[in-house]
Amino acid sequence: MSTPCWIDVAVQTPAHSQVGGLLSYRCPFLVQPGQLVRVPFGPREVLGVVWAIQDHAPADMPASNVRDVLGVLEGLPPLDEAWRQLVQFSAQYYQRSLGEVALSALPPQLRDLSNEQLARRLKKQNTERAVNTTPGPALSDEQSAVLAQMATGTGPFLLFGSTGSGKTEVYLQAVERMLAADPRDQALLMVPEINLTPQLEERVQARFGNDAVVSMHSGMTPAQRLKGWLAAHAGHARIVLGTRMAIFASMPHLKLIVVDEEHDPSYKQQEGARYSARDLAVYRGRLHKAPVLLASATPSLESWHHSRPADAEDTGGRYQRLLMPSRIGTALLPKVRRVDMNKQPRRAVLSTQLVAAIQERVQRGEQCMLLLNRRGYAPVLHCADCGWKSECKHCSAFRVFHKIDRTLRCHHCGLTERVPRACPECGNADIAPIGRGTEQLEEHLGELLAHVLRTDGSPVRIARIDADTTRLKGALESQLAQVHSGEVDVLIGTQMIAKGHDFRRITLVAAVNPDTALFSSDFRAPERLFALLMQAAGRAGRDATQSATSEMWVQTFHPQHALFEALKQHDYPAFAASELAERTAADLPPISHQALLRADARTQEAAQALLNAARETLEAQLSENPDTADLVLQVSVYPAVPMSMQRVADVERAQMLLESPSRMALQKMLWHLHGVLHQVRSQPEHKGVIRWLVDVDPQAI
Ligand code: ADP
Ligand code: ZN
Ligand code: ZN
Repeated sequence: MSTPCWIDVAVQTPAHSQVGGLLSYRCPFLVQPGQLVRVPFGPREVLGVVWAIQDHAPADMPASNVRDVLGVLEGLPPLDEAWRQLVQFSAQYYQRSLGEVALSALPPQLRDLSNEQLARRLKKQNTERAVNTTPGPALSDEQSAVLAQMATGTGPFLLFGSTGSGKTEVYLQAVERMLAADPRDQALLMVPEINLTPQLEERVQARFGNDAVVSMHSGMTPAQRLKGWLAAHAGHARIVLGTRMAIFASMPHLKLIVVDEEHDPSYKQQEGARYSARDLAVYRGRLHKAPVLLASATPSLESWHHSRPADAEDTGGRYQRLLMPSRIGTALLPKVRRVDMNKQPRRAVLSTQLVAAIQERVQRGEQCMLLLNRRGYAPVLHCADCGWKSECKHCSAFRVFHKIDRTLRCHHCGLTERVPRACPECGNADIAPIGRGTEQLEEHLGELLAHVLRTDGSPVRIARIDADTTRLKGALESQLAQVHSGEVDVLIGTQMIAKGHDFRRITLVAAVNPDTALFSSDFRAPERLFALLMQAAGRAGRDATQSATSEMWVQTFHPQHALFEALKQHDYPAFAASELAERTAADLPPISHQALLRADARTQEAAQALLNAARETLEAQLSENPDTADLVLQVSVYPAVPMSMQRVADVERAQMLLESPSRMALQKMLWHLHGVLHQVRSQPEHKGVIRWLVDVDPQAI
């Protein structure tokens, strides 16, 4: 046994406790930074990561108060410096404690394993993970050009490639080239959602062998997660394929990061440390000197802006833009058709032309897909006599009518009740649904197409995929399989069905009612809608033999809207240019940088009072000091307002926006704000506040 030393350890501290940083322990054995240890924390024993070794006792507490480390997780190599730096940066940038970020990046099962159990897991590891690369297809000219540019540049790269242009093939061949250079190297492939993972996982496994690939996403069991994590950490797995959480995978030989569908909002974590896995990918790439490839057919305006080419007045962005405009083979993008709903009978859900077009396709043996971004039967139940609506008593939202089990369900707090027989206010028996959800669309379309027969003479088959139909494990997979096998003629669903799926026989896609997003209070709503519609269009005509007749239909009351014009031309650059012009004029991201401070309380006044008090204290403190007075000018801090979803589950929510042209200034401001919040929060008049949190680079305002 060596002489005891003093170490700083990251442990999971409760959110908003004052213990934000590292804790000091005495360590009776020799350890290195990055090793995992078990330490006492209050009455409990917890897992921690050794962050630093000190050569003297902590100055701020008596040595006798420093507790001893209880044990080391043996056999595990330390988490490397790049990983620790990633965690440290994330904690700082997203304003959370280092321990929280570090520990939530580790598989939960690690906390509960004894050294014996861990040793058994490590022994079971397949260290001889074979990589049997099966050659891919000959590359298209565009694919070859992109890979050549990646080989000579340093990145980060933004691959702007049409749906079906063969982006996935580019990722696979980039991995292949990486492994050819050094078979010990590792690649991280990130995808937005779990439901897209199975297809890609099969493709990656088919190319590199089952053993080379591990998955990381929230749908895995704790045991699976641990196994995959260990394989990546030990350097045995060549490829980690995962959702946003995979950005924190420990990968000592990381040499390539790919972010597929980089514009997708699900890369932003919405609780705890609200990190953007896409942004962290760019940071992590720099740490590992690994090229980063962001890819999309509709890039985020952030990445588009960062990859702008240089011109006379502008040195250009720091990303390199790579282009793949054509679909593979002879496949064409679908023709976009707008239906002017002003010319349809009032309250028509589906235009007569669209119904006729669907019928024709079904009779030809083709598939159609209808998109409606609202699940359930109807968004509201309504009494025409007294005006009662099916509001949720706990949230500022309506409960949605689900006809299938005759319930009213709140999609925010989950409150579910049987539909009343009569209006609860006035007793009127005639309460009616207003608006439409996927459930009603399915019923309605079933009636309209009741007489339509498939090529085999059997009746048309309509299926619905949304959060309600896919609640059970495996349900989504089996429903998608039905679509792929051709058992289904018309697929109805929410945005879930628009993304990524390589449906081969769909030739018509229709957006039933996309207009609401045109006039949203959220400045990102048009960007999201455009991406969704382009994605949806990308599901049509993926098979070249049918692509010439494939169509994307948009039913709208605003057929001349610039967004639909750009969609019709499949012209993302035109759309992006006009959106960026608006963002520039209004000083919105990506031109400026934002953070939101949110407070939750029993009353709206209490929530806002905390925010406004923090703002006043902050500005007063900063103005007093000549070193910080500038910050007040560089960062705008707006007064508190209610959030757009003001009340959820009886909790009132308020927010305060901070905005600055300088990311650095905003970060400094947040640092000061953090101190002020602890100070203000402890004042008796703010007792009613339940919690506060900071969202840096928020996705929704
Ligand atoms: P994206 O990811 O851009 O939507 P994919 O990589 O899924 O496109 O490619 C679309 C289709 O084209 C897939 O079925 C894929 O197997 C096929 N494909 C991709 N690259 C090639 C190629 N070079 N030669 C032949 N087929 C290809
Ligand atoms: Zn009534
Ligand atoms: Zn509710």
